[in-house]
Amino acid sequence: MILYHELFDLKLDEYGIEIPMQDDRASKSFDFLRGRYHESQFATPPSLAMPTREDLLLAHGPQFVEKILAKGEDLNQLIIEGFELVDSSGQYNRYNPARAQHPLMNLATTLLLHTGACIQGASVALEHGFAYVLGGGGHHAMSSAPRGFCLVNDIVIAIRKMQQLKKVKTAWVVDVDAHKGDGTAQILKDDPSILTLSIHMANGWPLIGDEVDVNGNLHPWFIPSNIDIPIAAGEEHHYLSKLEDGLQRLKKISNLLPDLVVIVHGSDPYEHDALKSTEPLKLTIEQMKERDMLLYNFFEHLRLPQLYLMAGGYGADVWRIHAQFLDEICYKKIGARK
Ligand SMILES: [Zn+2]
Repeated sequence: MILYHELFDLKLDEYGIEIPMQDDRASKSFDFLRGRYHESQFATPPSLAMPTREDLLLAHGPQFVEKILAKGEDLNQLIIEGFELVDSSGQYNRYNPARAQHPLMNLATTLLLHTGACIQGASVALEHGFAYVLGGGGHHAMSSAPRGFCLVNDIVIAIRKMQQLKKVKTAWVVDVDAHKGDGTAQILKDDPSILTLSIHMANGWPLIGDEVDVNGNLHPWFIPSNIDIPIAAGEEHHYLSKLEDGLQRLKKISNLLPDLVVIVHGSDPYEHDALKSTEPLKLTIEQMKERDMLLYNFFEHLRLPQLYLMAGGYGADVWRIHAQFLDEICYKKIGARK
């Protein structure tokens, strides 16, 4: 079942933000599917429920959560920080407030709608075995700060909400976004009930700069996942075999199979992704499909409920990655196309 609503579109340009995240990635994928199947067969409408304070506290510290809920200047600052709209010299970065049509805090509202949908998506996945939220995947958000275009970590919130409701004891997070799932690793580092795997660019953001700070402490973005699979530039031909090996290792280190798998389904490893920082990883559209079917079939074979969150993907072409995967799944589950 696929969860989509037109309110999920981030429309960053309407806030004066100049990051090449295409507005229509979710809607294009959804429209493509609507042209091939009857909507009632593959979609379930999102409830548009906002996460509560208690939901946010499942992944984040109280001070951070209060700043979000207060909806004041603090929240504007969190968006500026999380979307890196000011550089180290205090200048605007990829940001032109003169072009903004809405206050930045409205963007926070949209991101929190994604979080509500991720929670709902986890319930749908447990019920139907498969759910895909055309939004969410805030894997860079740390326990006490937003980061890398992510305000809150909707992955951890959705899983821990299911744990709180006693629908789930253990889970895996399998992160195939081009960037390492650093926030998820940081929040979950002392939580043995949720195991994490991240396959990502070996030498791209966030893994740049010094690994430790002046006091010798590991920077949060270098905190290891349970399994990390770095892919160096030019190593794309090993990507699929390394991913498969990683999934086998994840299974091996788990005492029992988990009750839920959340896939952080970034399309930014695609060779036509438009974000400069993803240039070191270039998979073809065929490799992306193989990646996605490898994941789906691996979890399907183990009979694990699968929740996919959209995560990163930039530019006019990346919607094809989500659409081709969902077309394949719809065809498997529904049968003949229209
Ligand atoms: Zn990414």
